[in-house]
Amino acid sequence: MIQKFMDHAEGQNLHRGFYLKGKYTWDMFNPHWPSKAFNRFYTTQLREHGLLNQDQTNIRRLLIAITKKCPLQCEHCSEWDTLNEKDQFTLDDFFKKIDGFVDDGVSQLVFSGGEPLIRFNDLVEMIQRYRNKCNQWVYTSGYQLTPEKAERLAAAGLNGVAISLDHHIEEFHNLFRGNQKSFQWVKDAVKNCKDAGLMVTINSCLTKTYLNDNNTDHLINLVKEWNVPILNILEPRAVGHYANKDVELSIREQQMIESKVRQYNNKKHLEYPLISYPAMFRKNLPCGGGRSYLFLDYDGTLSPCPFCKTPIKNHLELTNKCEIEAVLN
Ligand code: SF4
Repeated sequence: MIQKFMDHAEGQNLHRGFYLKGKYTWDMFNPHWPSKAFNRFYTTQLREHGLLNQDQTNIRRLLIAITKKCPLQCEHCSEWDTLNEKDQFTLDDFFKKIDGFVDDGVSQLVFSGGEPLIRFNDLVEMIQRYRNKCNQWVYTSGYQLTPEKAERLAAAGLNGVAISLDHHIEEFHNLFRGNQKSFQWVKDAVKNCKDAGLMVTINSCLTKTYLNDNNTDHLINLVKEWNVPILNILEPRAVGHYANKDVELSIREQQMIESKVRQYNNKKHLEYPLISYPAMFRKNLPCGGGRSYLFLDYDGTLSPCPFCKTPIKNHLELTNKCEIEAVLN
């Protein structure tokens, strides 16, 4: 399996790891080590590679949108069509769905929304329920992530928080997010989560304009200044609020991000954050949506990912590769 990782890594070596509360981690997509979640995660991955012959699904990560509610109005929102509609799924409904996945081998849970912190008490209960079997992250805008809430999330067993920041200049980030307080929420949330001992990463959706104005170094420097260990770069997708817009990055723009990954992820820049850009490995790896992870939305609908919302009726059928492709096509 290590050889498979190396084949997919585009010549990149791992130069950084992070030590937190007695555990090691090196990114936001793999559970901390040592942990039960780590062992479960890699057992599932061995199955995916055909290195273990067990009759279970290959799904190891579940993204869960726990609410449609959100105080922001982001330019790139993939949930735009249902934003702020009424939530249908109760906490018990979620437990019934998620329990089945965890029993089948899912070992990383990523809670998103809408803004997941809007449903704070339910979120804390979910994290407590799965803390012994799963590595758990919250993807948030940082909305009202006070020191008390950060402490409660950490005490519940949360492993990490990915906080969205899309521009290094406060005014432009707030414009992108449609809320004048957003930048300050991000800044406060980063501090409060770090103080609570949570792993923190910054999630950034880099637009064509941002890249072509050569702003990426400014963002990287700000993330460094805030002492956040990982900057995870996402690409704009022409869905939701961006539907039918010319937002998807060109090959040249993708290469601009790749050059930053190569520039900063080396031994000379150890004081900088790790630059994570999952799309960089898409050339060598098939998309994991519907293959190794699934998206469960606020109404209990399953789909391959937040951007590709073709409903999946029975995930157990996805053990068969042809059926996965049938669903995705
Ligand atoms: S992208 Fe996230 S934070 Fe922004 S409006 Fe949509 S759900 Fe809210």
